[in-house]
Amino acid sequence: AKTPRIVILGAGYGGIVTSIRLQKKLRAGEAEVTLVNKHVYHYMTTHLHMPAAGTDHHDNARVRIADLIDERKIHFIKSTVQRVDPVHKRVILEDQTLEYDYLVIGLGSEAETFGIPGLKEYAMSIKSINSVRFIRQHVEYMFAKYKMEPQRKDYLTFVVGGAGFTGTEFVGELADRIPVLCRCYDVDPSLVRIINVDASPAALPPDMPVDLVEYGMDVMRRKGVQYKLSTPIRECTPEGVLLGDGHFIRAATVIWSGGVRGNSLLEKAGFEVQRGRVRVDDCLRSPQFPHVFIIGDCSMVMSPEGTPYPANAQIAVQQGYNVARNLVCSVRMRPMQPFDYDYKGTVASLGRGEAVGLLKVKKVKGRKAALLKKLIDARYLYLIGGIPLVWKKMIFKQGAIS
Ligand code: FAD
Ligand code: NAD
Repeated sequence: AKTPRIVILGAGYGGIVTSIRLQKKLRAGEAEVTLVNKHVYHYMTTHLHMPAAGTDHHDNARVRIADLIDERKIHFIKSTVQRVDPVHKRVILEDQTLEYDYLVIGLGSEAETFGIPGLKEYAMSIKSINSVRFIRQHVEYMFAKYKMEPQRKDYLTFVVGGAGFTGTEFVGELADRIPVLCRCYDVDPSLVRIINVDASPAALPPDMPVDLVEYGMDVMRRKGVQYKLSTPIRECTPEGVLLGDGHFIRAATVIWSGGVRGNSLLEKAGFEVQRGRVRVDDCLRSPQFPHVFIIGDCSMVMSPEGTPYPANAQIAVQQGYNVARNLVCSVRMRPMQPFDYDYKGTVASLGRGEAVGLLKVKKVKGRKAALLKKLIDARYLYLIGGIPLVWKKMIFKQGAIS
């Protein structure tokens, strides 16, 4: 029989874990595995709020794919997927077309702008290494510009739209970074404003316990962050943001962290989606195209309560394990095992030495939570690259760009 061809799209949390597990589990010649990714590196999205603010080097948030996979076992193609054609079982890349027997889609998410005018054009989002390098440089450039045009206070106003986990983690880092930039550019810190706007009445997700939310917001306020809550952003312009209450905040920097949706390639490929995500079956397959597995932010998995699990790295990694195991089963004509999510908890960073979160249902906050966050990061690095990677990215890491 012909050797089955497995194609994995995206080397994010879901895709890289699937690849690493497959290379470990498959015997030589059992399947041909190809991994496609836009960049030659895997990046840890969970780390990106730091290089975005400039409190850490972006190199600490990425690893070369060649250092994670064995290219004798997995064929790696650096390319941007243009189109997925599940009807004819092929994937169109920039300069070639791949045919597959099994496809794994782990192409991550895009910013959800809810059609709010101007957000796509004038706001920046924390998405990739490229986007965070841009945000870091932009923030610093605003300080340099302000020194040339001191009447332009809007250069020193930073609006962050959305105070969910992403907005909160970024704001925490930005507030830590501002004093450094103020010293570097001789700017009076009292002129700088960080305004975190959210449509809901409190920061952090609604399922966070109230005392942890208050703790988190107190930490932020002490760092100088201002909240504008129960107020949606209605429009973004080159001059700033228009709020639902009619106020206009003049700001030369708007970061949008108001939510995510699945990669738009899925919708374009004809998959049925909700907010860009495909509601997958028990074994993480598309109900329309059973040879297509969909994982991470592109997938939607329902909890026993009937609500979708939040898209995060934790579930993407566990899905990677499950899909790799099930691909091996498929290749060996054995029955597959349904995906069973083991939720371990959530920890959100609030900047240097501070975090809040839940370990299953146990509340954690402050230094202890910050340490836990580091352990979670280290565990992931260990999982994909063993002790040497933990060493390289966490102990002998690149210093922040000063
Ligand atoms: P991703 O990890 O986003 O990977 C997608 C991959 O696909 C990327 O490598 C990308 O380059 C590639 N790609 C995209 N389009 C194409 C294309 N057309 N062609 C080829 N390649 C393509 N979750 C947690 O559980 N814990 C956290 O602490 C946490 N912190 C976060 C902090 C921030 C600032 C952000 C933004 C998110 C955070 N999340 C966290 C959420 C988490 O990062 C995502 O849920 C997770 O990255 C999803 O993994 P994924 O494999 O679906 O996609
Ligand atoms: P989110 O959807 O969790 O939060 C978006 C926030 O934006 C909400 O608070 C919402 O009220 C607000 N918002 C929406 N429209 C608005 C508007 N017009 N004006 C103002 N505010 C508006 O999105 P996120 O924070 O980007 O998180 C995305 C996913 O990544 C989530 O599943 C999250 O759990 C995960 N994540 C996890 C961590 C962590 O575990 N530490 C960190 C970051 C992200």
